[in-house]
Amino acid sequence: MTSETKPRSTLAALRDQVPTRPLSPSEVRHVVDRQAIRLLKLSETLGPPVPINEIASALPRIIVKHVPDLPSSGRAQWNGSGWVLLVDSTEAKVRQRYSLSHELAHVIWHPLTAHALPDTTYTLAEDRIEQACEYFAACLLMPRVWMKRAYFDQGIQDVPSLARLFGVSWLAMRYRLEHSGSLPDLPRRPHEDRRRVSEGVHDKPGQDRPRR
Ligand SMILES: [Zn+2]
Repeated sequence: MTSETKPRSTLAALRDQVPTRPLSPSEVRHVVDRQAIRLLKLSETLGPPVPINEIASALPRIIVKHVPDLPSSGRAQWNGSGWVLLVDSTEAKVRQRYSLSHELAHVIWHPLTAHALPDTTYTLAEDRIEQACEYFAACLLMPRVWMKRAYFDQGIQDVPSLARLFGVSWLAMRYRLEHSGSLPDLPRRPHEDRRRVSEGVHDKPGQDRPRR
């Protein structure tokens, strides 16, 4: 396989993991998790921190740009011949990594959302894709297997150290820990603000600015 064909097949391989039918929320999470693991494998990434800039930039027809003062934290734009992933360079590096991972998920899922993520009784399609992209970013930057390795094998068991190791914010790490299901919850530090967990989940008005 040449270096030219390999990246192109990467996107195709990730899209092939999505069934051609409407997916339930739990199915989406399962598929997204598998996509993240597959991308790490295809990009030969073996441990944290995930080089998300390099991974995204290596894909064909994807350009990554870090620019100041975007109206949102990140944005994926099709320019007619390729995708431009814009990330707000004025935000914290960990935030930029998360935003870029989220925008990459938009590219992967772009041709799939219409059939796989239709409106449900409780959630609009546009919200479902945002949730999927947020979950992809968490799975990609904080793979469960690596988390367990760091936590149990390396004994790194506090949020700041884990966040530093994985190149994510404390908020994103804490949210991931609380929802991973395979690691014990860590005691919360008094100055951590529970309201601002949106780094790892949804953007809400008045908190972080939106990604699109
Ligand atoms: Zn988005």
